[in-house]
Amino acid sequence: MNKDELLEKLQSNISRDTWNNWLTSAQILELTETKVTIGLGNLFIKEAVEKKFGPVIRDTLTNILGKKIHVEFKEIPISSESKNSVSGPIIKNRPLKLSDFNPDFTFDSFVIGDSNRMAYYSAIEVAKNPGKFNPLFIYGDVGLGKTHLLHAVANYLLENSPDLKVRYVTAEDFMNEMMDGIRSNGMEHFREKFRKNIDFLLIDDVQFLIGKNTVQTELFHTFNTLFNSKKQIIICSDRTPEELATFHPRLISRFEMGLVTDIQAPDKTTKYLIAKKMAQMISISLTDDVAYYLAEHIDKNLRKLRGAIMNLLLQSQISGVPVNLDSAKKIVDSMIRMNASKVKLHSKEILESIKIDSVINAVSSEFEVRREDIFSTSRKKEAAVARQVLAYLFKTILNMKTKEISEKLNKNHSTIVHSIKKIEQSLLIGNDLIRDKINHIKSKLEEENYSTNI
Ligand code: ADP
Ligand code: MG
Repeated sequence: MNKDELLEKLQSNISRDTWNNWLTSAQILELTETKVTIGLGNLFIKEAVEKKFGPVIRDTLTNILGKKIHVEFKEIPISSESKNSVSGPIIKNRPLKLSDFNPDFTFDSFVIGDSNRMAYYSAIEVAKNPGKFNPLFIYGDVGLGKTHLLHAVANYLLENSPDLKVRYVTAEDFMNEMMDGIRSNGMEHFREKFRKNIDFLLIDDVQFLIGKNTVQTELFHTFNTLFNSKKQIIICSDRTPEELATFHPRLISRFEMGLVTDIQAPDKTTKYLIAKKMAQMISISLTDDVAYYLAEHIDKNLRKLRGAIMNLLLQSQISGVPVNLDSAKKIVDSMIRMNASKVKLHSKEILESIKIDSVINAVSSEFEVRREDIFSTSRKKEAAVARQVLAYLFKTILNMKTKEISEKLNKNHSTIVHSIKKIEQSLLIGNDLIRDKINHIKSKLEEENYSTNI
């Protein structure tokens, strides 16, 4: 491996942001069997890089070269810099921003399994033969690799058809750019950008436009213009075209015109391989048991898997201890704890709302009074009694405070107190009608509660 190749390799193993921020001046000054000397722009950069990224760069180079190697950082002497600029491109001029696409999201770094095979091959096919399936519509839950595939297509085109004008945009950005266009009288520029100056449009998270009619209309015209001039479109969404409720039907039918394919949750083996691949991408070594542990314990959202792996990397860098099963267990535990507290909150809320709601429903059907009549100011006898019973049940079954009940029923405090007293009195004096109805409601609720708790 020569110096240039080594530098190239190093770059591909370091995050784009880090590289762009710190390492664009890097060059390999010396490469021997035992030692690599890296030159960096000036003293400040040299010291910062050595401190911040020294260990990572050492590990990465060790990894690349397959042996322990001594790494030294040097400030590039001014004379050598000027010499280089005359004598040829030892320093490659690296553009600050390579592209809008995440260079890590490629077809190569995408692990194929049963869950995503169709989506993967559809994306490759479209990248190789634009226009063949138009549009390609990929749907799947969050964190299953849709954005990765879109960027993979873009990166593939960047490499293989550099002349094609490829644009990746999230539906949200599309909307924001359109709004900017409207605000600044720049719609012409906006349309130029998305309808004319473009060969390949990748739209991510299109479900964002649910309920946003104006943007949908704009997207519809963008779609038609591109489609009619045989430009390829790929759309990603968290649901099927059909399930994009409130989307304009004509837009939905456009989406369905080409190839619709899905990404499912990965099975354990695929997840295991993805964990390995993710680790490889950031140059940490995950032993098989760790990768397997992560695959087994982290749910289908691969963003979480990646989060866990990044966390492991960080921890091992801070502690100096290589990633091991213990640290993996700790990370997973803390993720589960975080999740559990979220779930609990959520389900408690839901449970409460279901309870309140089912009590209202039960009362409404028992008294044959419509919900809205219970909540109205109607003085009709049935509605008034149903309201009183509801207040009574809120208090006795759900332990709600009088204040909460009065807010819920939109009646003042004394009315509620009076209502509850009234029902208590009815039961006390043996009003069979009320008693039967209340007993009936209670057993119905118990039944419901039982079946939802299984
Ligand atoms: P989505 O857009 O569907 O919400 P992403 O594309 O953002 O999901 O994927 C989440 C993370 O999982 C990303 O880091 C991505 O690189 C990774 N990922 C998803 N699927 C795969 C796969 N099959 N192989 C490798 N990495 C994957
Ligand atoms: Mg995404």
